[in-house]
Amino acid sequence: MAEAERLGWPKDELYAAPPLWARVDLCGAGLLIGDREVGAVTAEALRIKTESGSILSFYRRPRSSNAIDIAGALAARITARATATVSRALPDPPALSSADHARIDWWIRSRLTDWRDNCWVCRRAFLPGQEKTAIANSAGAETHFHRSCYAEWRTEQEALARKALGLA
Ligand SMILES: [Zn+2]
Repeated sequence: MAEAERLGWPKDELYAAPPLWARVDLCGAGLLIGDREVGAVTAEALRIKTESGSILSFYRRPRSSNAIDIAGALAARITARATATVSRALPDPPALSSADHARIDWWIRSRLTDWRDNCWVCRRAFLPGQEKTAIANSAGAETHFHRSCYAEWRTEQEALARKALGLA
């Protein structure tokens, strides 16, 4: 940066901190460059080598739109790093995709029998206060269950569907 100062770069263009980091275009080039290797210094531009080996140029104002581009590139890299950290922290993906779940649901619904007067599983009546679950399909079949009977039946049906669809 001493070389840049000698070539007439004003201090604020090298070291100014922006009032908000969102206005990183107002940031001095020196702050954006940090401790990266500065390749070439001229009265108009600073060139630095990035980690990937490419060259970034910081031009003197008024060509400050270039500084915005560089800031955008830096922000994108920071975002990419943060994303990578987050995805490492996530648990393993579920074994079945949502498309698989949709196929399982379709398989179960396509086999429904229209059955409404008592519980399809235990064939007992629905007494007052008992929670009831009903599922239907587009063909108009509607099957009624006690809620607890439905939970058992559904687990069994999902196992059958996975086998039938080769999703074991
Ligand atoms: Zn039942």
